[in-house]
Amino acid sequence: MHVIHSPHHRGHDPQQFIVRGRFQRSNEQPERADRLLQAAQAAGLQPLEPEDFGPGPRAAIHTPEYLHFLATAWERWQALPQASDEVLPNVHPFPGQPFTYPDSLVGQAGYHLGDMACALGRHTWQAALWSAHCATHGARLLLQGERAAYALCRPPGHHAYADRANGFTYLNNAAIAAQVLRERHARVAILDIDVHHGNGTQGVFWRRRDVLTVSLHGDPHFCTPFFTGHAHERGEGDGLGFNLNIPLARGTGDAAYRQALAGALQQIRHYAPGALVVALGLDAHERDPYQALALSTAAFADLLGDIARLGLPTLLVQEGGYLSDDLGPNLRSALRGFLAAA
Ligand code: ZN
Repeated sequence: MHVIHSPHHRGHDPQQFIVRGRFQRSNEQPERADRLLQAAQAAGLQPLEPEDFGPGPRAAIHTPEYLHFLATAWERWQALPQASDEVLPNVHPFPGQPFTYPDSLVGQAGYHLGDMACALGRHTWQAALWSAHCATHGARLLLQGERAAYALCRPPGHHAYADRANGFTYLNNAAIAAQVLRERHARVAILDIDVHHGNGTQGVFWRRRDVLTVSLHGDPHFCTPFFTGHAHERGEGDGLGFNLNIPLARGTGDAAYRQALAGALQQIRHYAPGALVVALGLDAHERDPYQALALSTAAFADLLGDIARLGLPTLLVQEGGYLSDDLGPNLRSALRGFLAAA
């Protein structure tokens, strides 16, 4: 099994992030990927750098305006008087109210950057597009007959909508991979076990039945992204019934989580997809800085073992999981559990 990773992630090191009104350095730091790569190799995975797949895979998920914004915003921002080194939003359109796409870059930043956790620096675009190439490369390995692959994507992707960044994410790597897998498979499932709701992934596939989206996460009553992730959000139109949210109470531990996962896996079996993408967050761990749920390190082996026993071609796509001494061991546990059962 390969770990697909790119050194381009290092240039993306956002310095400004707001938590309860205070600026601090982002939790989503380059060291995360270094620790994750070490752990993947310790679990026996073979490192591989991705090919450049061009603009096609990201253009199949994201809008042209948004991709143009991401590719050009930093340089255009530098031309503004007294601009900061990072693009950050300060105005937003109101949901449900009429609006016109803004000509002003400041307006575009407010439209495309959904919160204060997606600062855009000089190298963010390069990091995001190579992160997406990692996911695309993993999906292509599955299409070539490999049973599984691990895409070490940084920045992560599952909060990114078709035209909006938020929550540390810019391009939706898991969605891009699922779309690539659709070339061969009539139905693809995405299972998101990051502690935060995969709101962007839900948004991308909200009206589609060819990609089942399932997310287990901290209940939005207490956990970001707050506005989405409730059980009653089930998709619309053609997609009605093909989005499943499983919100979990604060502090949910190993046994209750595994039971909830069993329900999710039952739904995936019933859907009978040709391939599976796992949005693999490790931030449901008990000592992750987010402190929302309380999984042990050993639990990741059990959970990934349960997922592997679906017997599907499976792409693991890295999402969250933040700096702590447990980050590497959590990934190693997850990968070992997966490999032992695959
Ligand atoms: Zn997360």
